[in-house]
Amino acid sequence: MIIAVDGPTASGKGTIARRLAAHFGLPVLDTGLLYRAVGFGVARADGDADDEATALAHVDFPDALLADPALRTERVGGFASKVSAHSKVRQALFDRQVAFADQPGGAVLDGRDIGTVIAPHADAKLYVTASVSARARRRFEEMRGRGETVTLAAIETDLAARDARDTGRAAAPLRPADDALLLDTSDLTIDAAVRQAIALVERRIESRF
Ligand code: C5P
Repeated sequence: MIIAVDGPTASGKGTIARRLAAHFGLPVLDTGLLYRAVGFGVARADGDADDEATALAHVDFPDALLADPALRTERVGGFASKVSAHSKVRQALFDRQVAFADQPGGAVLDGRDIGTVIAPHADAKLYVTASVSARARRRFEEMRGRGETVTLAAIETDLAARDARDTGRAAAPLRPADDALLLDTSDLTIDAAVRQAIALVERRIESRF
C-alpha cells in the first residue's frame, strides 16, 4: 500500500505521515529532506540557490546527510524551497523517491508532489492544509521551544513567501491531486488530525475493494 501525504510547510503533514507509517507498519520518507540536503549543500558553499546549475551541483549528497539536524533549520528550508523550483533538480531526485514508493509492501511519502508526480498510483492520497496563521503559530512555538528568537510576523511573512514559491512554480507546483482527500488541521490538535488521517485512509482503502 502506498500512501501519499502532501501539503504546505508546517501543516502537520510530516507528523501525520510518520504516525500513518507507524499505524500501518510501513516505511516513511520525508521527501522535503532531499531538497533540504541540496539546499544545505548550496548554503554551505555560499552559492545562489536560484541558479539551476549551482543547485544541480549539489544533488549527489551522501545518505547520511539526511539524518543531520542541520537540515531542519529555517535557513536551509528557505534554500530548499528555492532549489526545488528547478526542474533538473526535481528530475535528479525523482528515481530515488519512486524507488522508495514502489518498494515491496509499500510506503508512506510526504512532500509537495507525491500524489501528483511521484506516486500518482498511490492507494490513498491526503492533502493536509492549515491556515497561514495556524501554521505560523505552530512554527513560532516550536522555534521558541528551541530557544530561538523569532517574531510571529516574520514567520508568517516567510511561510507566505514559501507557499507562493511552492504553488507558483512551473515544475511540479504544490496542489492537491484530483483524487486527494483534504484534511484541514487549522483547528485540530495533532492527535485529532492523526486520528482523522487514519480514518480517511482506512475508508479510502476499504472503498477500493
Ligand atoms: O517539507 P519541507 O519544508 O522540509 O520541504 C522543504 C522544501 O522542499 C519546501 O519548501 C518545498 O519547496 C520543497 N519540496 C518540494 N517537493 C517535495 C518536498 C519538498 O518541492 N516533495
